[in-house]
Amino acid sequence: MLNLSVLLEDGARSAPEKECLVFGDLRLNYAVTNMIANQVANLLVSRGVRPGDRIALASPNLPYFPFVYFGALKAGAVVVPLNVLLTPREIAYHLEDSGAKALFAFTGSPELPLGERSFEAFNQVEGCEFYVDLPSSPGATESTIDGAETFWKALDGQPGEFETVQADPDDTAVIIYTSGTTGKPKGAQLSHNNLLMNAVVSSGMVEPHPDGRDVALVVLPLFHIFGQTVMLNSVLYRHGTMVLMPRFDGAEALRIMEKEGVTGFAGVPTMYWGLLGAVQSAEPGTYDLEKIASDVVDAVSGGSALPGQLSQDFTKTFGVGIKEGYGLSETSPVVSFNNPKIKAKTGSIGLPVWGVEMKLIDNDWNDQSEEGEIAVRGHCVMKGYHNRPDANAEVLRDGWFRTGDIARRDEEGFYFIVDRSKDMIIRGGYNVYPREVEEVLMTHEAVSLAAVVGVPHDTHGEEIKAFLILKDGAEASPEEIVEWSKERLAGYKYPREVEFRTELPMTSTGKILKRELRA
Ligand code: AMP
Repeated sequence: MLNLSVLLEDGARSAPEKECLVFGDLRLNYAVTNMIANQVANLLVSRGVRPGDRIALASPNLPYFPFVYFGALKAGAVVVPLNVLLTPREIAYHLEDSGAKALFAFTGSPELPLGERSFEAFNQVEGCEFYVDLPSSPGATESTIDGAETFWKALDGQPGEFETVQADPDDTAVIIYTSGTTGKPKGAQLSHNNLLMNAVVSSGMVEPHPDGRDVALVVLPLFHIFGQTVMLNSVLYRHGTMVLMPRFDGAEALRIMEKEGVTGFAGVPTMYWGLLGAVQSAEPGTYDLEKIASDVVDAVSGGSALPGQLSQDFTKTFGVGIKEGYGLSETSPVVSFNNPKIKAKTGSIGLPVWGVEMKLIDNDWNDQSEEGEIAVRGHCVMKGYHNRPDANAEVLRDGWFRTGDIARRDEEGFYFIVDRSKDMIIRGGYNVYPREVEEVLMTHEAVSLAAVVGVPHDTHGEEIKAFLILKDGAEASPEEIVEWSKERLAGYKYPREVEFRTELPMTSTGKILKRELRA
């Protein structure tokens, strides 16, 4: 029997006074963090939540995230983390598809009115029984959202002890939503064992600071699997300290790194550009770069390809080599690492981590020796997508999972990603599935055909561009389409560029030739 919440419970037992969470002036030790998670577990049980029930959580990197995440796990429930940028339509879809029994959502701010959007979605979904507002002002018992109950009010009187519901290692702990070629996001079911093993294996790759401090700057979103495993579960496994940052800003990140003596950082390449940009644009003496560089001993990049130049520039400024990791939501996520401390090759995603196998296959699952689609087997591979037998049959076979990433393998077994077979754009570390964007664009009254592609962008890696054919006699401007899409799609998904065409390049079978559009 096992429960992923052991990560927090072990810290509370063996290092209760150790700092677990830092957010602004708030500092919470392991004992207090665990106690609040216990209160959440008691709350859920008192509301009728049973093992296996799904609890949706929409929160940026705030203390609420670990409270609710571990509280739900302790109660035997399955956590469904939601991207905080989703629109009401998208949130409602996730609640319905996962069959969520409750939604915990952060109120947000005028720039990020997450609570309003979430409450609107909650009211559209019948099966979702209760809503808990995670208020912007800590401790608030009155919600600013009409008709919602706040977290602190709900927790009032709940005991701080709870006997964790032990699960089977293969029971689902978390459902992470990721899209695919079908255009609709699918929920990858990750088990307690998947997530625990990945936290332990990722921890094994972390470079310890010589003086024993372990302080992580947690700015990768925890609702995404990369942040969740590498910056939450893995840090707790080592009894480290998480310094939470809800939104990336290079200058603010440097300030926090200096103040808190951050020893480890994980980010997507866009964040590394942001850190370097903030150093370059700062007045001399703004930051004690020498101190920052002597504190930081561990830097990890993942989510999209790390440009060689970026890696070199970062190492020159901060004195630490970046380890590039590769993985997916479906693989909990870490599959491989290119680790300069052991052996790294420029442009490579490295070698598989302990207990994980990689191989190359063709369309029909036949093994390939030098180039093909990456398939993965081992403790990291998901149980399957929630309620999607067809999609599961496509991607899972004999324990192997096919990733949709095309790679080359050299004679020493190092993998190099060369292409993607899946239709996907990675914008600033966020995956965008063109099919989903195209489906929304096609509901515009003036649009008869839409094709969405990623075009190169200096800092985001790729930018989203839509090619549209308008209906006969219909009129629209690119700006109008951009604004219209913005209302219907999360911020990282809507097209920033729109181009009208009278026809699109097609194959003989009627498939749009996206390679030509990209060119
Ligand atoms: P997600 O499911 O959001 O974690 O996205 C997984 C996808 O991100 C993979 O299938 C890859 O296409 C891409 N990806 C992740 N890590 C890397 C990397 N180091 N280099 C290139 N692409 C990556």
